[in-house]
Amino acid sequence: VELDRIVKSFSVKVGLRRARVSAVDQVTLVVPEGATLGIVGESGCGKSTLARVVLGLHTLDNGQISFDGQALAKRRRPRRIVEQMQMVFQDPYSALNPRASVGESIAFPLRVQGVGKQEVRQRVAKVLEDVGLHPNYGGYYPHQLSGGQRQRVNIARALALQPRLIVLDEAVSALDKSIQAQILNLLKDLQAEYNLTYVFISHDLNVVEYMSDQVAVMYLGQVVELCPAEDLYRQPLHPYSQALLASIPVLDPGRRSSDEAGLRGEMPSPLNPPSGCRFRTRCAFAMDVCAQQTPVLTRADDEHMVGCHLYAHGSPEPNHGG
Ligand code: SF4
Ligand code: MG
Repeated sequence: VELDRIVKSFSVKVGLRRARVSAVDQVTLVVPEGATLGIVGESGCGKSTLARVVLGLHTLDNGQISFDGQALAKRRRPRRIVEQMQMVFQDPYSALNPRASVGESIAFPLRVQGVGKQEVRQRVAKVLEDVGLHPNYGGYYPHQLSGGQRQRVNIARALALQPRLIVLDEAVSALDKSIQAQILNLLKDLQAEYNLTYVFISHDLNVVEYMSDQVAVMYLGQVVELCPAEDLYRQPLHPYSQALLASIPVLDPGRRSSDEAGLRGEMPSPLNPPSGCRFRTRCAFAMDVCAQQTPVLTRADDEHMVGCHLYAHGSPEPNHGG
């Protein structure tokens, strides 16, 4: 899937007036088939909006989404394309109809699609098996399942439509660590088996690192850094990425973590983002130019893109005395 300069804003009421909130601004990303793009950032950075735009749940203001080399129309998408893009959300409980059995929940979209009875039954059994649940689970109801089992059911439901792309929005965030690991490994196995493409959204950097080939770091609707996952964790370039990484528990003692680089202050309102660089109100390295010019995402090296004035003139490393 390819996103080309995606723009999405919403109209919101502020007191008596209406204002536009820029939720996603000029985002360009490419996710190769069979790969995982991780998207990280604090809540409100636009990652979920971006996911919904990809899935066609929000219409675009501007920009272009392509799937399989085919540009998608702004409003109506062919059903085949809609089915090939599925989503798994954070809350596995509210995503399932409590009155429907697991089997019915998985079968429902297939019936809508016009798949015959016999094949529905086979596919339900197959996807349950794919996600590590005995076919008997088809007769269970959501309240009879654990959180991890419910998330397996949601994955099964997404798989039943034989998608090519799955957007996972905080898909393991509500689960205990040990269950998280099981679900992440399940997702990796399914990806390998079905050559699935994932957009993996999370605020949890450790989880994103584990899952992703490439990572996009978002701040206030913009991608500020885009690079292979291992590069981001080894050598984050953008001050925001550095701060995010410094604020997670450091498991690897070789990894730099300093208070200076930690995240200061609050995220500004998206209604009124700072001029120039949107991160400048929280950045320890802000310069005059940062208030005047919006940095654009540029290549710091072969595969590493960063949007920050510290790198604008070919200086390889910011001078922050680390
Ligand atoms: Fe900080 Fe300026 Fe870079 Fe923005 S552009 S992250 S304010 S140094
Ligand atoms: Mg979200």
